[in-house]
Formats: sequence, C-alpha cells, structure tokens
Amino acid sequence: MADDIEIHNFHTDGSPPRNWPDRVVFWDETLRDGEQTPGVYYTLEEKVELARMVSEAGVQVMNCGIPAVSPGELKAIKAIAAERLDAAVLGAARTIRSDIDAVIASDASECAAFIAASDVHLKHKLGFTREQALDIAVDSVEYAVDHGLKTTFVTEDTVRADMDYVAEMYRRCIEAGAKRVLFCDTVGVMTPSTFGWWLDEAVRRIGVPHDRVEYGVHVHNDFGMATANTLAAVEHGIPCVNTTVNGIGERAGNCSFEEVVMALEELYKVPTGVDKKALCRLSRRVEELTGVPVAFNKAIVGYNAFTHESGIHTDGVIKNTLTYEPMQVEDLGRNRRFVFGKHTGTRAVEQRLTQSGVDATKEQLLAIANDIKSFTEANTKEHVRDFIQYYRLWDRDNKGVSPKVFWDIVERHGIKKPDPMPVTA
Ligand code: MN
Repeated sequence: MADDIEIHNFHTDGSPPRNWPDRVVFWDETLRDGEQTPGVYYTLEEKVELARMVSEAGVQVMNCGIPAVSPGELKAIKAIAAERLDAAVLGAARTIRSDIDAVIASDASECAAFIAASDVHLKHKLGFTREQALDIAVDSVEYAVDHGLKTTFVTEDTVRADMDYVAEMYRRCIEAGAKRVLFCDTVGVMTPSTFGWWLDEAVRRIGVPHDRVEYGVHVHNDFGMATANTLAAVEHGIPCVNTTVNGIGERAGNCSFEEVVMALEELYKVPTGVDKKALCRLSRRVEELTGVPVAFNKAIVGYNAFTHESGIHTDGVIKNTLTYEPMQVEDLGRNRRFVFGKHTGTRAVEQRLTQSGVDATKEQLLAIANDIKSFTEANTKEHVRDFIQYYRLWDRDNKGVSPKVFWDIVERHGIKKPDPMPVTA
C-alpha cells in the first residue's frame, strides 16, 4: 500500500496486536470438510492433485479425509502420503479405535480425533453422558499417540458446550499426548468479540500455555462471519486456523483460505508464507472439481473482485488503482477488468480505444458511452434469465444423485417407486 494511504486498522504503528501468535499455521480442510459440501466428491486423482496444489501454496497441514469412510478414501490418503509433500498429511477419526486404525493404515503422519462436546450433540446425537465422552476422548488420544501419530484433539460444537467441561476434556487430552487442540464453532454462531472472549477464557481454564500445545480454530460461515471470527482468534493468540479453498464445506461452508491469507497479508501486514499467486489458481481448480461456482462477488477470488463498470470507479482506477482497489491485482496474478454497461463513463471507453491504437474526440467518446447505456437499458436480459434458470435446474437435478437415480436404487432393493414420482430426492 502506498504511503499516502492510511489504514486505521488494529495497529497503525505497524506492531502486531498484543496477543499475536509467533506464527500462523494453515490447516486446510478442502479435502475433508470441503468434500462434505452437498453434492461434492473427488476422485483419487483429484484428491492427489488438490493436495499437491494446497501444499505447494504454502499450507502446513492438510486434513485429507476420514479414512474409515470407505476403502477408496483410505486409498486416496495413502496416495497423498506417498507424494511426500511439504504439508503434513492428516487423517481424521471419530474417537473410535477402528477409525484410528484406519488413519494408521492410511500412512498419514497426523491424526485428528474428534468427538462432540456440547450437551445437545452428546445427548441427542451420540447418546453419551459427559463422563462417557470424556473417557472415550482420552482413550482415543492415548491410542493414537501410542501408535506414533501426531495427534490433534477436536470437539464438534465446542463453543456451545459447558466451558468447564470443555476445559477438563482438553486438559486431559493434552495430558494424554495431544500436541494440538481445535475449538470448533461448528454451526457458525460466534461473533468476533464473543469468540475472542470465549477463546481467552477457554485457554485460561484449560491452563496449558501456548508453548506447550498448539491451539487452533475450525469455524463455519452460517452467519457470514467465518473469516472475521478466524481473524479474531488469531488476534487472541490462536496460531492454527482451519480453512477451505473458496470457503466450501457443510451448509454455508467453512472459513475461506484466500480471505484469511489476504487479510493477514494486507490488513495486518503479517507475512503468511502462502503464495498469493496460487490463490486464484486453486480457487478455479476447486470450482472445476467440485462444481460449486465461485460467487461473482466473492472476496479475493470472485470474478468481479477486480472488475469495474461505473464511470466514477473506472475513472478513479485508471488514474490510480488505489482509489478503488484495496489490494494489488498483480500480487494475485489476476487481471483488472472494465465492463461496459449502464454505468459506463467516457474514461473506460477512451482507455479501451487507446489500447487498440484508436483515437476519438471528446464528443465521440460521450456519444459512444451514451449508446452503450441505451443499448444496455434496451436489453431484454434474456441471457440473465437463461443463465439463472440453468443454474437453478442444475442445483435441483444434479446435486448428488438425481431423483431418478435415487428411486432406481431404492427399487433395486425391493421397494416400489411412489407414483407419481416425487420431484426431488
Ligand atoms: Mn466443519
């Protein structure tokens, strides 16, 4: 950012916030939580390709999946481990010995053992008492550690659990050998300030200092606050952040990798070690492999993130990009784009003509801009309706297996199809 820009952010004097961690550790969830996005699955080759790209981008840990899910999943993690990438290969496991056995068999060097922590999950989902869950958790961590796995202890729905119970569970699991522990806002209900308070309090009650265990967060985006909450966690001294490329994941998704990287780099001036030019490449590849389109207005990687139409903005950006671009498009390996439409001004027209070696008078430029405006306003927008209709039909009919395939499979098991056939599976 140039000298004549002043950002009134957290620390205008250039010093990091008081509790800033020594380092930020990126833990990628694109291959695990990301694959749990409704309708998404990867082939073995795709998993290996993505793991390679994620590792090369500068991520330190990759949750490659839950090997107990299927023999195919185990094989994919084995194939990733065989690549000997820089990023650590982690396999996730429920706190069940057979799940941890599958992680061992997958050749992953790290294991994340997870169980729920909140009463709502323990009672209604698992049917465990708090005491049972605690015993199972400690036993699983010991088992994973005894088998030579670097072990992370994770609880689902941590932030909606009783905090003293969480503190006891985490302390006991750290004593059992967990090297890292994750706090999860599984349903994305925290706000930055409450999350900061919650994390300070949880770490205080656990009583294990940051130099003895690595704390981390895994947050969801149900209220659109995943990135803000993750940054709040880092401000409160939490080094490990779970992210996914494009923020894909269950429901409204996880915290976006590219957003956290760029916020740390640009707003906090903290080097992340992540290759910024890899962000968009990764985003596009994940879009292709998941079929989950990146929103046009998505931060950093969205198609419109560096696209301008309005005359005022275009004029400003052509004079000096700092006027309407808070980061440098070149740093991301992206291109700036001007779109011609209802809000076009003469400056963008002039620039496009000049680029093509064509001169025009002021009057001509104005007339052209006015013609573009009227052309746009006269447009019937059929292309917009076609595009959105296609998108919605695709969402209805091609997400996961189609209704037809669902009922064909059901019928194969001796159950008659309903008549008429339901429209959705
Ligand atoms: Mn999750």
